Amino acid sequence: MNLRETTFGEFLKPSQIIFDLKSRDKLEAIEELLDSLVRLKLINNKNLTLTRIVDRENLESTALGHGLAVPHARVDTEGQIAVAVGRSAEGIDFDAPDGQPVRLIILVVWNPSLPGLFNHLFAGLASFLIKPENRFRLFNSRDKEELHAVLSEIRFSFPREDKIINRASLLKKLQDIEIRIRRAPKDRLEELQKHRNLIREELDQSLLARFDLLMDRYGYAVAEVVDGVCRSCNMSVSTQMASAIEESNDIYVCENCGKYLVAARKEKIAREKVEKARKEKPAAQAEKAVKAKEAGKKKPARK
Ligand SMILES: [Zn+2]
Repeated sequence: MNLRETTFGEFLKPSQIIFDLKSRDKLEAIEELLDSLVRLKLINNKNLTLTRIVDRENLESTALGHGLAVPHARVDTEGQIAVAVGRSAEGIDFDAPDGQPVRLIILVVWNPSLPGLFNHLFAGLASFLIKPENRFRLFNSRDKEELHAVLSEIRFSFPREDKIINRASLLKKLQDIEIRIRRAPKDRLEELQKHRNLIREELDQSLLARFDLLMDRYGYAVAEVVDGVCRSCNMSVSTQMASAIEESNDIYVCENCGKYLVAARKEKIAREKVEKARKEKPAAQAEKAVKAKEAGKKKPARK
């Protein structure tokens, strides 16, 4: 495959970095970054872009954990891609999965003529940001130029190799929405379809083609992995794959039944355990009652 290697420096100039965001609020911070892109003439429709980004945030926070967030939207803009970076020393509440305030926001707007661009970009960002030493250098940059130099080390390959990256929770969400659409009342349909289209825009075509095929054939395409077992076929997945699924947000395919595998949400597992315990409790109580009754029979009847 013909790969073009480049770095983040191609898309990010120091002028696109706000070293000290004034905003202390998620929405305001996104607006502050968009305003800078308007000033730099890198986007021409602030309101539409803001709406798209907020719609996407409402669907699922783009905070990655570790103080990072990547709000993004696909919008018809002048150029192919517009990037802005904002740093907040105090941190901004972004509804992050780890609850940590966000100290670095990487905002990405890209043109619909390049549907897969964000996936390539995100892959490069993720592999850089996953390393604690890189995050340390980003958070401890003394000025805009130093921050720009560190960010410019991030490497990208376009088009990316055929690896499916970091889309597992979106794929699961897409399945949930597709299932809800099947039996949604008319007044809810429009909103659900809007959500569905937002997610589909972010997933690549080969992934969606297989997803649609599985949905058609089985009614679902994504299976959760609980305690190393695929919930679709009840077969164990390899230990190596199970821990990879648990630790990442990558998408894997069950070797046995062909479904996409995602890690089960921890709160869901906890809820199911409570549910199971509650179901077992009445049975235990009934057993106790029977025993008590039998014991009662043995007692001499009072007269
Ligand atoms: Zn399976």
